[in-house]
Amino acid sequence: MKLAFFNDYRLGVVRGDAIVDVSAEVADVPHTGPHNLISNLIGDFARYRTRLEAAAARGAAIPLATVTLRPPLPRPGNIICMAVNYMEDGTRTEPAAINAFNKASTAVIGPGGTMVLPDLAATIFEGEAELAVVIGKTATNVKAADAMAHVFGYTCFIDGSARGVPAFYQMKSRETFAPIGPWIVTADEIADPQKLQVRLWNNGELKQNFNTDDMAHKIARCIEWVSSVHTLLPGDILATGTNHRGLHAFQDGDRIELEVEQVGKLSITVRDDLKRSWGRDTRLERHGMKPETSPQLTGKYAPGNQG
Ligand code: MN
Repeated sequence: MKLAFFNDYRLGVVRGDAIVDVSAEVADVPHTGPHNLISNLIGDFARYRTRLEAAAARGAAIPLATVTLRPPLPRPGNIICMAVNYMEDGTRTEPAAINAFNKASTAVIGPGGTMVLPDLAATIFEGEAELAVVIGKTATNVKAADAMAHVFGYTCFIDGSARGVPAFYQMKSRETFAPIGPWIVTADEIADPQKLQVRLWNNGELKQNFNTDDMAHKIARCIEWVSSVHTLLPGDILATGTNHRGLHAFQDGDRIELEVEQVGKLSITVRDDLKRSWGRDTRLERHGMKPETSPQLTGKYAPGNQG
C-alpha cells in the first residue's frame, strides 16, 4: 500500500496514477495534526490495514496530476541519517565505522517543495539521494535478526547538506533540507530493500545512480545500532546513506528528481535568493582534483569575491 497526504493533508492511498481519499477511515486515530495522525496510524496499522484496503478499492480515484502531494511524514519524531554508508562501487576497501546523525524534523518538505539555500558561507550545497526506512514499531536494543520486523515501509529522502561549515548540526538541519516522499510504500510491497536502484537527476541529467546492494551496513544492522543508542518510534525516519560519487552542487532553479525503484519518484526545486553559482561536475568527475567538490564560481562567499 502507498500512503500519502494530499491537498489539505487528506490521507490517501495511491492506486496507479490516482489517489483515493481514506481520511474517514482514520478519523478515530488519536491525533492533533497530520504528523501524529500518520505516526499513530503506523503504530496501530494492523487494526486499520483491512479497512484502508477496502476503502481504497471502492473509493473514487482522483488523478494524482490534479492534487498537491504533501510530505507523508510532516514532522517525524526522529530523522536519523546514516553517515558514509556505501562502499561506493568498490572504491572503499572496507565499511566506514558505523555512524549517524540527527536531522531536525523542522527541515521536512514534501513533493514539489523548494529547497532554499541559506545565506551561509558553505563551500557547496549538495543533496544526497537516499532510501529512507520508516519505522513501524518501537525499537529499543533490537537485534539485527529482528530488525526488519520493525520496518513499516520506505520512502525517498534527500539529505540536504551545506558543506564546509563546522559539525553536522550546522550542515544538515537547515530549513527545507529534508525533502521526503512522494508517499510511504509499505514493506510488503518491497521484495528486497537491499536491491533497489536509486537515481537522482538534476535538470534531467542523471547524476547519482547506485543500488542499495552497495550499502556498507545493511538496514537491519543500522536499526540494531541506532536502537542501541536510543529508541526509535513508529513514524521515525532512518535514512540509509548515499553513494557520494554523484554528488554535485544544488543551485538556484535546479529541478531535482529522485527515484527509488519500487518506491516512487520525489521531485523538488532549488531556490537561492543570492543566485550563487558552482560548476556542474560531480565528485566522481572531480576525482583527484582539489577541491574535491566543485568550487563556487560567482556570488556572495565565492573565493576572491569580497562583495
Ligand atoms: Mn546522507
